Amino acid sequence: MPESKPLTETLEPRAGVGERLARMIRVPTVSAELDARGPEPFEAFVALLAELYPLVHEHLSLERITDFGLLFRWPGAAASDRPLVLMAHYDVVPVDESDDWTYPPFEGRIEDGWVYGRGALDDKGPLAVVLEAVENLLSVAFTPARDVYLSFGGNEETYGAAAAEIATTMRERGIVPWLVLDEGGAIVDAPLPFALGDAAMVGVGEKGVLTLRLSARGDGGHASAPPQLTAVRRVARAIDRLDARTFPARTPPAITRMLSLSADHAEGAPQVLLRTLATAPWLTARVFARMGGEPAALVRTTVAATMQQGGTAANVLPSQASATVNLRIALGETVAGTLRRVRKRIADPLVEVAVLESSEPSPESPTDNAQFALITEAVQASYPDASTVPYVIMAATDSRHFHRFSPAVYRFAPLEMSNAQRASIHGVDERVEIASLERGELFHRRLIERLM
Ligand SMILES: [Zn+2]
Repeated sequence: MPESKPLTETLEPRAGVGERLARMIRVPTVSAELDARGPEPFEAFVALLAELYPLVHEHLSLERITDFGLLFRWPGAAASDRPLVLMAHYDVVPVDESDDWTYPPFEGRIEDGWVYGRGALDDKGPLAVVLEAVENLLSVAFTPARDVYLSFGGNEETYGAAAAEIATTMRERGIVPWLVLDEGGAIVDAPLPFALGDAAMVGVGEKGVLTLRLSARGDGGHASAPPQLTAVRRVARAIDRLDARTFPARTPPAITRMLSLSADHAEGAPQVLLRTLATAPWLTARVFARMGGEPAALVRTTVAATMQQGGTAANVLPSQASATVNLRIALGETVAGTLRRVRKRIADPLVEVAVLESSEPSPESPTDNAQFALITEAVQASYPDASTVPYVIMAATDSRHFHRFSPAVYRFAPLEMSNAQRASIHGVDERVEIASLERGELFHRRLIERLM
């Protein structure tokens, strides 16, 4: 567009983003404590948004879908049923009373250019920068090229229905999003051991979840004359058999692409190494699986035994024992296939395997399309030093309700998250830098402005 400078370069954003986020943090929208706190914080939050973003509420329609889903629609210049959907959630996880926060988690404290409090990163900060961008664009009477929807859920952290219902509603109306953007990745520093500089990690897929209960029964009796296999031993043996080698390691295409893009930003020997890995997915799978932890989780289904129980007294044989196992299913695999493999691996018909919860892994969104190019352009405008890199996220997001009918779903919040900050999510001293909120606003402004 040679005739005029983009608004992203000339528009003066409204000051006070940090203070507005701090006010959002002060409303304790803890979805897991809904019963104890009641719905008031959620209603107060919805009212606060209307106060903080008057133009958004004047120019966009707002629909309440279920008690906790907010769906804003900003009509575009051309009628189209292929909108941009920007997602976030306004509920937060509880605070552990025994944790030692520097500032009280719901005080919304601003200190040295940082906003502290529960939800600063997950996910009120990302929600705020979406609204800031829309408000700023409306202040200069901007109209997006296509419809823009803002989809905000109030029970993401409790796997609630708000986002699922929003997705269902849109689908029933024949709306297939052109691009869906939700939480997941962020701007991180040196995401790989050898890569240099900042990277915008964009989640192009998310792993599935499978939670199982393994249980076994025994004869009970006195512990002084035990049989070979008690119920506890049987369950322990089953868990032992579900070791890291239970599932094959395979490199998703997104990770190969991540390596090749990271190689472009590396030098010397690390660059050679990254390039080698990028051209040999089988090698990457082996190396990452060997590394364990996060690298291994990128290339295979993981298994973690999380809870165990059985027995009633120190000298009594347990008549019953069980363990809970949490699996994260790799892209390209299925819940059914994973379950089959678990049973085969345990190889013990007396261990009962029950499914407690399951969700399929997402498909992988492409990186060679206009949508990914647009995200890359918006990153360049807001974080010029960061390269845009696809990857796979381990956690589940609300966007999973869209990927079944929308092919371009990406998980990325345009905020800087250091390792320490990432640890503060669902943890202690969650915080975001105001300078990063300002860049996040710029990201969304550019994204909306450059829609075609
Ligand atoms: Zn979240």
